Amino acid sequence: MERRIECDVLVAGSGAGGLAAAVTARKHGLEVIVAEKAPQFGGTTALSGGWLWIPNHPMQRQIGIRDSLEEAATYLLHETGEKFDPERINAFLANGPRMVEWFVRESAVRFDPSALFPDYHPDAPGGKAGGRSIVASAFDGRELGPMLAKLRPPLAELTVFGIMIGSGAELVHFMRWSKSVASAAFVARRLIGHGCARLFYGRGVRLTNGNALAGRLLRSALDAGVQLWDSAPVRELLKKNGAVRGAVVERNGAVLQVSVRKGVVLACGGFPQDRERRARLFPHPEHHSPAPAGNTGDGLRLAQAAGAKLDESLPNAAAWVPVSRVPREDGTIGLFPHFIDRAKPGVIAVTRNGKRFVNEGNSYHDFVQALLGQGETTAWLVTDHRAIRAYGLGFVKPRPLPLAPHIESGYLLRGATPADLAARAGIDAAGLAATLATYNRDAESGTDPDFGKGGTAYNRFYGDPDIKPNPCVAPIEQAPFYAVQVVIGDLGTYAGIVTNGDSQVLDENRRPIPGLYAAGNDALSIMGGNYPGPGITLGPAMTFGWVAGRHLAGVTT
Ligand SMILES: Cc1cc2nc3c(=O)[nH]c(=O)nc-3n(C[C@H](O)[C@H](O)[C@H](O)COP(=O)(O)OP(=O)(O)OC[C@H]3O[C@@H](n4cnc5c(N)ncnc54)[C@H](O)[C@@H]3O)c2cc1C
Repeated sequence: MERRIECDVLVAGSGAGGLAAAVTARKHGLEVIVAEKAPQFGGTTALSGGWLWIPNHPMQRQIGIRDSLEEAATYLLHETGEKFDPERINAFLANGPRMVEWFVRESAVRFDPSALFPDYHPDAPGGKAGGRSIVASAFDGRELGPMLAKLRPPLAELTVFGIMIGSGAELVHFMRWSKSVASAAFVARRLIGHGCARLFYGRGVRLTNGNALAGRLLRSALDAGVQLWDSAPVRELLKKNGAVRGAVVERNGAVLQVSVRKGVVLACGGFPQDRERRARLFPHPEHHSPAPAGNTGDGLRLAQAAGAKLDESLPNAAAWVPVSRVPREDGTIGLFPHFIDRAKPGVIAVTRNGKRFVNEGNSYHDFVQALLGQGETTAWLVTDHRAIRAYGLGFVKPRPLPLAPHIESGYLLRGATPADLAARAGIDAAGLAATLATYNRDAESGTDPDFGKGGTAYNRFYGDPDIKPNPCVAPIEQAPFYAVQVVIGDLGTYAGIVTNGDSQVLDENRRPIPGLYAAGNDALSIMGGNYPGPGITLGPAMTFGWVAGRHLAGVTT
């Protein structure tokens, strides 16, 4: 028998989009339930870097950055082209900074600004060489009390000995721990702290990046009095007289009918694990998503069944990232997203013909687009002994951690010569030899005439400032040689439910469906299939979640 429950707002999904909407609505006096399908809260958000792209955010002045609405709009016009949606982009640009101010004032959410993290196309009109992105401040997971066990842990492949390494200064310490006493001491303190936390709490408690963001949002939801249901998938939306009035939710084996006085927010994290929609919208047959297994496109299906319009026309249906497959000790395969290593000096990417195809320091989304442009779905990151010991490669960590386990597991390929490496990887040896000859000749003078690696502030952000004149280019010449295979994955999907500037879901005639909202990756991305900068999914997710929460409470934004 169905049980009936009533509230003002039901939110489906507990990532950044859902929790932002829930906290906002609750703080505006509404009674809110968050129904989360998975046994833990946080979704992809908890696995993420925790960066939000918010042009004109309130901390820009403190880090000496000048920005304007006009510049940001110009940049987005350039990035989105014919997909530019003035209503939603204006809503994002106007409300992003207000959302940040509101969360910092009203909740446990805190951010650190970065003056240095550039837009991904900083030289495009309106682009900036840094200052538009903020990252969730580190968070002490003990503040969640028993709910810490209910927070999705970070991606194991992105931790070191299980430690989540924060971006910025912390990452620098970990990269330099064999070179500097201060960094070694920092790392030792983190290791000891992590060991103690594992002993007492069964997991690390110093949360950084996306885990800190999800943890802080969860703390804020608890403080505000949001009801949080885990293992509670939303199965069906209930409509009456054209308006969404509730939903069917499964919980603890029971089927509940939740009636809403105000509305339902869909924030189920898009469709990265929906094989059917992926097969239809992704250009490549084989896809490897690090997103949680439960992000199967439920939000899109629920919306469609309620009469919503979906837009599947973007040139890229998802935010692409190259990932490598990491064999785990338990026999399963983990996915390592390659954000940083591609830009390092002495690392190039080739396809099976042994030829380069892209400026490897460009964004992950641009890298994969270039790969697809070759008609390929697989590439190899190729490097030499100097570079791999200095920077690591993918899941392989730098000196003094050993390479042997990765070679034994088959993750890392090693060859005494480039020809030997090519044979092991199945790359054309003559092609690779020719590529290395050209690349090395130019790399001697720090140039890369073929692809311009190191040519943008974004390339250089992840380079090695100690390598001069080009922090992203150095010869690949010191044997042995190494390669890691990368395939195509995503960080979240872009195609989705059509919404307006108030986060209301629109029907086929572009009229709002009363009582239905969408935020996060369930909603069509405003980025037009492009990836303009660090945090362009979480920035809009939290902004449109906040906008939805306020609209539900009757506050105009
Ligand atoms: C390694 C990695 C790093 C990233 N770094 C960044 C970054 O720094 N900045 C950035 O902007 N983006 C980043 N991304 C992308 C970003 O994490 C996602 O775009 C974002 O978290 C999506 O938020 P969301 O709220 O839409 O969904 P999610 O955070 O995925 O939350 C959706 C939730 O909905 C639940 N759900 C699904 N179906 C149902 C249902 N029927 N009923 C109830 N609940 C349901 C899911 O279980 C999930 O918990 C990264 C992604 C990855 C994988």
